[in-house]
Amino acid sequence: MPHPGVIEAYRQYLDLPSHTRVVTLLEGNTPLIPLPAVAEVLGGGFELFVKFEGLNPTGSFKDRGMTAAISEAAGRDVKTVMCASTGNTAASAAAYAARAGMRCIVLIPEGKVAAGKLAGAIAYGAEVLQIQGSFDDALSLVVDLTSRYPVALVNSLNPYRLEGQKTAAFEICDVLGSAPDWLCLPVGNAGNISAYWMGFKQYDQAKGTALPQILGVQAAGAAPLVLGHPVEHPETVATAIRIGRPARGEQALQAAEESSGRIIASTDDEILAMQKLLAGSGIWVEPASAAGLAGLRKQINEGMIHPRGMRIVAVCTGHGLKDPEIVTRGFSYQALPADAAAIEAVVLKGK
Ligand SMILES: *Cc1c(COP(=O)(O)O)cnc(C)c1O
Repeated sequence: MPHPGVIEAYRQYLDLPSHTRVVTLLEGNTPLIPLPAVAEVLGGGFELFVKFEGLNPTGSFKDRGMTAAISEAAGRDVKTVMCASTGNTAASAAAYAARAGMRCIVLIPEGKVAAGKLAGAIAYGAEVLQIQGSFDDALSLVVDLTSRYPVALVNSLNPYRLEGQKTAAFEICDVLGSAPDWLCLPVGNAGNISAYWMGFKQYDQAKGTALPQILGVQAAGAAPLVLGHPVEHPETVATAIRIGRPARGEQALQAAEESSGRIIASTDDEILAMQKLLAGSGIWVEPASAAGLAGLRKQINEGMIHPRGMRIVAVCTGHGLKDPEIVTRGFSYQALPADAAAIEAVVLKGK
């Protein structure tokens, strides 16, 4: 049977109200791709997989939660949805709202939204408003406005987002037969780490699939959960996790603790180095998506994780196409005459 989207695929495990009317782009069912070459670079002797969430319909894992949030809203005949976004939530909300025939308003922070994400939100027809403030400011505004108008909030404060996002944990268990030993993933507003932990716990209770240890990774310039206090001016190249006051921070800390895992920070240099290493295995992800693996590499190097014999899954949350400027910046083309000799001299002769 073809994949019907995450709600139909896992309906019995999702706590969605009976009025829910499914709006789907057949999200989910993303591949779990083996990464033997990257595992070797990290020391070898273990199995490593990437859950490539960049292959969802709008290019990030946000689609799993958005199908649930929009479907619930559609069942209530909601006409307008609103979100704050560092980019991927905006693109996803815009696409699912378009499919449901709803109006979609998104607030984005000044500058800093990657080109592919902004373009997506515009292409799907959202009303995009840039505010002179951070993501955290935008989210506060959305919470306020949606409490005063008949407009549905579709950020991950919306509980149905997490219901949808749990399905990634189910898929991993279904493919591997059980949970991995470790799950590594980036942490921004902390909805996804919370959803994975809910999902693994629920599946373990239903099917005895066991529990992973969870390694959540923030960017060093935006690491409130590592520092133990909010970050007023978060800064990182990984714009999807450039968040100083995570809405689900407490839940994320609890997930790390209950799983005997932890939340750590990686620097931008470590994140970009991992982005490059992954691309060397044919997997191009946006910077934030490389943070989970960058953190794993650091933990292994520091002797904090001994991976031998383990099975480890890293979640790559969004596609590299979302943020093309990160890689093209500083790249200059060499203009050559259109003749074979000139090209041979540059790339073939003596190489
Ligand atoms: C949203 C997002 C994150 C962060 O997820 P949270 O649920 O906010 O912690 C990480 N990577 C990408 C690509 C994202 O779009």
